Amino acid sequence: MLDVREELTPMMAQYTDLCEEHDDALVLFQVGDFYEAFCQAAETVARICEVTLTKREDSTGRYPMAGVPIDNAASYVERLLDSGYRVALADQVQPAEEASGLVDRAVTQLITPGTLVDDELLDGSTANYLGAVVRGRGDGGDGGDGGDGGDGGDDGANGTRRATATATYGLAVVDVSTGECLVTSGDRTTVVEEIERLAPAELLTAPEIDLDETAVASGAMHTSFDPGAFDLDAAREQVSAYARPDAVLASDEEIRAAGAVLAYAEYTQGGDRLDYVSRVTRFDPREYMRLDATALRSLELFESRSRSGRTLMGTLDETACALGRRRLEAWLRRPTIDRDEAEARLDAVEALSTEGVARETLREALREVYDLERLVGRVSRGRANARDLRSLATTLGVVPDVREALETVPDHDAGRLATLADRLDDCADVRSLVERAIVPDPPQEITEGGVVREGFDDELDEIRAVEREGRAWVSDLEARERERTGIDSLEVGYTQVHGYYIEVTNPNLDSVPDDYTRRQTLKNSERFYTPELKRREDEILSASERADALEYEVFCDVRDAVAAETERIQELADVLADLDVLATFAGVAVEHGYTRPTFGADALAIEGGRHPVVERTTEFVPNDVDFSKGEIALVTGPNMSGKSTYMRQIALTSIMAQAGCFVPASETRLRIVDRVFTRVGASDDIAGGQSTFMREMAELTEVLHGATGESLVLLDEVGRGTSTTDGLAIARATTEFLHDEVGATTLFATHYHELTDLADEYDGVFALHFTADRAGDDVTFLHRVAEGPSSSSYGVEVARLAGVPERVVERARNLVDAAERGDGEGGRADDTSGGDTNAAGREPDASSTDGRTAAATNGHDPRDAAGTGAGPEDVPETEQGDAGTDPAEKTLPASAQPTDGRAKSAPLPDPSAGPRDDTNHAREVLADIRAVDVARTTPMDALALLHDLQRRLDDTDREP
Ligand code: ADP
Ligand code: MG
Repeated sequence: MLDVREELTPMMAQYTDLCEEHDDALVLFQVGDFYEAFCQAAETVARICEVTLTKREDSTGRYPMAGVPIDNAASYVERLLDSGYRVALADQVQPAEEASGLVDRAVTQLITPGTLVDDELLDGSTANYLGAVVRGRGDGGDGGDGGDGGDGGDDGANGTRRATATATYGLAVVDVSTGECLVTSGDRTTVVEEIERLAPAELLTAPEIDLDETAVASGAMHTSFDPGAFDLDAAREQVSAYARPDAVLASDEEIRAAGAVLAYAEYTQGGDRLDYVSRVTRFDPREYMRLDATALRSLELFESRSRSGRTLMGTLDETACALGRRRLEAWLRRPTIDRDEAEARLDAVEALSTEGVARETLREALREVYDLERLVGRVSRGRANARDLRSLATTLGVVPDVREALETVPDHDAGRLATLADRLDDCADVRSLVERAIVPDPPQEITEGGVVREGFDDELDEIRAVEREGRAWVSDLEARERERTGIDSLEVGYTQVHGYYIEVTNPNLDSVPDDYTRRQTLKNSERFYTPELKRREDEILSASERADALEYEVFCDVRDAVAAETERIQELADVLADLDVLATFAGVAVEHGYTRPTFGADALAIEGGRHPVVERTTEFVPNDVDFSKGEIALVTGPNMSGKSTYMRQIALTSIMAQAGCFVPASETRLRIVDRVFTRVGASDDIAGGQSTFMREMAELTEVLHGATGESLVLLDEVGRGTSTTDGLAIARATTEFLHDEVGATTLFATHYHELTDLADEYDGVFALHFTADRAGDDVTFLHRVAEGPSSSSYGVEVARLAGVPERVVERARNLVDAAERGDGEGGRADDTSGGDTNAAGREPDASSTDGRTAAATNGHDPRDAAGTGAGPEDVPETEQGDAGTDPAEKTLPASAQPTDGRAKSAPLPDPSAGPRDDTNHAREVLADIRAVDVARTTPMDALALLHDLQRRLDDTDREP
């Protein structure tokens, strides 16, 4: 950056050194009350933080400079982090007045997305993880005997790939704000899935890891850290500062990952051991219901796919404090597969749900609970101020209320509630220490006094007494001197610069006594001091200074004493978090009519089940499901009839139950589910946009490899992204495989009506369907599931219900029948009832476009017409005649062109339509609307159609 070091001033040289030391970060360099950046970095800071770019000028030259005030540095740091920078805070670590020349500065904190500790930068409701991932050797069995060293050289790319597929990966995460540290290992899929689930904000990758291997964790900043930290021996030593590596962790990979993550965490926090990382916890993903990123997303657990923004988390989150909020998130992200654990939680929820007053008292108390985990983190890092300690005391103060409320809950002396109550340590000693030591409403600053309570420290009290006595003497001085001098207007005052003075106005200067010494001359008066006043002044100031310094010392002692109790406070936080979630589950259950699920059923069965999220905004129709009929349910029904909602509500019910929550159903009999898979067919995943058929198939692969007899599989329109023949074939083969090889509880929503034939062929496969009904002039969806497949022509049924002319309906039915007989061309020829009329009606179109003919006769599925040209040119001739008048109106822009699906079912013009007139035109539009096959129209097609219709109506309006 600055090439000639010798030519720099000492300060700029110091800055340059720090920048070189932290070359992966943006160094913010304390100069007084500002953090400054220079040169190129200054330009970055100015741009991102929107502050003025100025220049620093010294004896060696002019440098661009940009600074942000230290007082609200957090908001600027946040912007820099958001823009992908790490920020190194280089603070003055020596009081300016002690420095003989240049003030010492050092990087006290490296702020990165994964190592945030500032409340202002953190979201209270989610953990903020830093992760590290490593790859071990493949477990092909030759790792141990070491006899194959010779052919290592020609292993080549193939060998590497093989190793990647079978290797064990290690993953460790730490939340630097709370001290939580989790470690696991497994094959690549498992670990990638855990990365997705834990969603670290920053991920360290070991040198052997290719970035694209873990590119799935796209939300994370990727950091390459000192490769030495991933070294097994170094890592083992690093971990042993926190836990006995070989006792707690299961493999070298876990040790390496944990070592690296802890080393980096320490490095960012200034290099010392992080005392509040009091436990390194190993977990096995197999202890939890596995939910990969696709499942989390499509079930909308934490992120909504629609504009409503509603999620399961948002629906259930009535927690009282941040501890509970993060615990709720963790339970939903990792539902247990331990039935005893789930039952223990459910027992507690049941007990809490029966006693409303006790529950509300408990929640009221929990609302007073501060974020203990992060608070204790700050205490332990020596970053807590006096207010933090008072907040801690306040929280400890509600623990007795929590206990009291618990004691009024029925069955509180058994099960989980009893265990939690036993662990509820109110840390009375810590609280009393803080309350005795710290004033009730302390200032933000801890170095300027006013923090420590009177009576806590004798020495401090003595110094304060001296100060107080001195001040009292001064405040009496005015009266005394007025009397002594006879000057009634004499005043005693104080300025920061000159200290204490006695002020006498000019007319009275004659009466000033001899022991007054002049200090300052003003326009109308003179200021004096006396030797005694000077002595007192020195006494007061030095006492006050000493008191402030001593207060800071006393405060730090108290903070250290609290830090020594870190583990107890963390334990308390853990208990309060559980209680908050259990009480929340109970409250939500009562408020929304959830019931307790039971486990141990042979097959999943739900009566009167609802979708927990959808029911909050919609008059919801409850539905049943019963897998004792078989493990695979094929769900058919028109678009918008409720298939997707139904499938998701079943998965959400299982997730909620295994998190320990009551469920929205009148009765629920469940099996413990080891893993939930959800796959949404490409064309159905409009919100996602980026879905492709390839991706759909890749995801399907994961299901077929990963599912077990204990899994719950949701397949929503899988196979839709390709042609009918292919799609149907894939759907059928998938179902057969799931039936024969996997035995997972499966719900398959499909528009391939043919698939429901499988229900007749296989035991264990059964069909369900949703129907549409007519109410008045509207087609309505009852959203009610019924047994059996929907009638093969449900689309035609919907058309009839919608009021499509009987002749069209008839014709459509014939086409369906013909297709089902495998007689693609025969529809019209065989048709005796309406064939002639239909033929006549179609003539003009058939002759005008080839694609049209193909579309009209080619089977019953719209997708068969793909690529046949049945597109926008497929407009009735009457319209084409219109084209000359306004060519711009004739065709839709490419993006809005209706796809084959609509084009085929929509334009069947009224054969009697004469030359165009307003009414006829409008009638055509209406007929086209009626003719839409709702069952086979995707939302995209519907939009395109609407667009088309609007244009045509505009057209009508404009015609004379
Ligand atoms: P499909 O997958 O069959 O196209 P969806 O499940 O997407 O249908 O549901 C379509 C609409 O119907 C959604 O907006 C949903 O809110 C509503 N819906 C679905 N099931 C129900 C139900 N049981 N009760 C009330 N509304 C429902
Ligand atoms: Mg759907």
